Amino acid sequence: MAKKQFKTESKKLLDMMINSIYTHKEIFLRELISNASDAIDKLYFKSLTDDSISVAHSDLEIRITADKDAKVLKISDNGIGMTKEELENNLGTIAKSGSYDFKHNPENENKDDIDIIGQFGVGFYSAFMVSDKITVETRVCGSDEAWCWQSSGADGYTVSECEKESCGTTITLEIKPDTEDENYSIYLEEFKIRELIKKYSDYIRYPIKMLVSHEQPKEGSKNETETVVSDETLNSMVPLWKKNRSDVTDEEYANFYRDKFYDYQPPLKTIRQKAEGTSEYTALLFIPSHAPFDYYSRDFEKGLQLYSSGVMIMDKCKDLLPDYFSFVKGLVDSSDLSLNISREMLQHDRQLKTIAKALEKKISSELEKLLESDREKYEQFYSAFGMQLKWGVYNDYGMHKDLLQNLIMFKSSFEDKNVTLKEYVGRMKDDQKNIYYATGDSVDKIKLLPQVESVTGRGFEVLYLCEDVDEFALQMLRSFDGKDFLNVCTNDLDLSSDEEKESLNDENKKAEDMFAFIKESIGDGVTKVRFTNKLQNHPVCLTTEGAVSMGMEKVLNKMPGAENNMVKAEIVLEINVNHDLAKRLINLFEDDKDKLASYSKVLYAQARLISGLSIENPAEISELVCNMML
Ligand code: ADP
Repeated sequence: MAKKQFKTESKKLLDMMINSIYTHKEIFLRELISNASDAIDKLYFKSLTDDSISVAHSDLEIRITADKDAKVLKISDNGIGMTKEELENNLGTIAKSGSYDFKHNPENENKDDIDIIGQFGVGFYSAFMVSDKITVETRVCGSDEAWCWQSSGADGYTVSECEKESCGTTITLEIKPDTEDENYSIYLEEFKIRELIKKYSDYIRYPIKMLVSHEQPKEGSKNETETVVSDETLNSMVPLWKKNRSDVTDEEYANFYRDKFYDYQPPLKTIRQKAEGTSEYTALLFIPSHAPFDYYSRDFEKGLQLYSSGVMIMDKCKDLLPDYFSFVKGLVDSSDLSLNISREMLQHDRQLKTIAKALEKKISSELEKLLESDREKYEQFYSAFGMQLKWGVYNDYGMHKDLLQNLIMFKSSFEDKNVTLKEYVGRMKDDQKNIYYATGDSVDKIKLLPQVESVTGRGFEVLYLCEDVDEFALQMLRSFDGKDFLNVCTNDLDLSSDEEKESLNDENKKAEDMFAFIKESIGDGVTKVRFTNKLQNHPVCLTTEGAVSMGMEKVLNKMPGAENNMVKAEIVLEINVNHDLAKRLINLFEDDKDKLASYSKVLYAQARLISGLSIENPAEISELVCNMML
């Protein structure tokens, strides 16, 4: 029969497995059992909605058979099985889930091969670490065809039709001969198999059965014994989340997480919640340490696994997680939910809503705790998922702001780190009434804004908002701890004394005609021109009036569909009344209006550039500047 070739990336992984110097070869059993358990889950799942399949939960099992003489180990399940196409797709190409994520994460591109084995489940291929030849016989439930896949490693595989009595999958491993360094035959020993199943697969919810032999007194005889062979279930089947907290190690949680949720890194935080009373449930939640590659894309699906008394009834129950906590992985097991509840009914289930509410509170309080107890870890979490929290503050008209406002952070002028609102307020000066912020593309650009300089110059801290969502989130919050948020480029910050205000008013009144002339010279760009006393060294700045800031204008106009409904901020050109330039302009207004017109355009262009905006007429401005130089 013609051999088919593995896809390139699978081949590489396969080579690694076959020639592996990796010391944890024993994990192959965990991987195969986990696949078997998934296959049974899938069958059970299907039977809930497909009347043509009937399964008795008590019949579902995984079976291990070890034949020491033939050096053959078999792992069978009576799960969903694979069609011929599935066989080729699933076992001829690298698995789509865990391994795929891994490959697509740019962080991992240059990592050592060996690292890969250590960091994530390599699944089926790991069997090649202990086996020379693998045979997979499989039959889909309800089909009378069975298929056999066979491979001795990197030179390819064959697929042919075969006989199989019952549905499910049997994997037969021909165990490698022992070498000087490696004792492969140990994987055929009953004690070793028991040990590995206890260690890695104890929580699997289906019985993992094996025929075991033990000595017992021979019937009718006093001192003779006989060897009896009987069927034994090797795993306790108590799900991890049902065990006592003290009986589960961090490593076990991490292994479980990695296995179930296809991450190659351990979780950043594990959260357990056991509720009793009106709604009884156990939740085991994980905060990943990094965002999945598709997290910020449309393909990402949030949700928790939902179990009813230990039996999975839904793989991704969306209703259990709000969008702002969509990064959370994990499961909820409740005895109050019916096994056969449909998805539509679940949506309206009161029990589920109560659980979701409680989980939301728990997640938020656990994150707050993390923030207080381990800042470094929280920063890691925040760099992956902080954006989602800020969207959470903004969305639904700010309905969730109380839950989230203590969790969000911004860069600030205080230090080169993220700061929380609580920290900001905690160090506000006695005479400071508001929380100041400024927006821009980057911290470096914001730092250079004239208005920022004027506020930090007075010793006040300014939050630096660099993400699109930031200002919208703060606007939704309006205030924190009774302090209003003020955009230093939008609002009248009211920082000057009454005398200063009065003198500024006078100057502004006197120069009204000049302002009208400057505005006219600039054209559509500004709605107003005036003097300001808030700037220190800079000659000019742009400020906005009204509800829309320049930052918001930028973001809103980028949104899909914005073309037909462009938003425009009302821009004011402010001139530093204490700058020599102010006098120069006043003189020009008397003596040389042409020059003032050119100067106005150039000043406006400068102000736009400083604010991080582009200029619409660069050629004209360049020519004007050139002329001034001549
Ligand atoms: P992963 O489990 O990470 O998806 P694997 O390489 O272990 O990767 O398996 C690839 C795919 O092969 C699985 O996703 C599954 O669809 C299929 N598969 C493996 N083992 C079985 C099995 N015992 N029964 C049915 N399908 C299986």
